[in-house]
Amino acid sequence: MNTKVCRYCYKDIRDRDELVTASNWFRVRPYHYRCFQLLEEETSTVAGMWTPVNGRIGLITVALMLALSIWMFATNTLHFIGDLIGVLALYPVLLRVISYLFIESRLPKYIEKKPPL
Ligand SMILES: [Zn+2]
Repeated sequence: MNTKVCRYCYKDIRDRDELVTASNWFRVRPYHYRCFQLLEEETSTVAGMWTPVNGRIGLITVALMLALSIWMFATNTLHFIGDLIGVLALYPVLLRVISYLFIESRLPKYIEKKPPL
């Protein structure tokens, strides 16, 4: 799969500044920042919802989930249920890692003076 092409408009994504990686179940896809907003407006069902993975909100989610996961594995809180929560909490962390390895790390951080789309 070409990770540098927006799945909405099928044009190239040039740098991380205009990139939004979004997840839906176990899929992670790259979009332009602008295209992602259009996608969100078009999506009316919860099942079709794409959640942004990168950016500040994604980072906070990952940090919280990682902390929760470590806590659940490291202690005996809630026993079996605790372990289960620990596994589930790793899911957004895993998505973030996939997004970074396969999409974000392949794009330059920021290109100055790029022409508008
Ligand atoms: Zn696009």
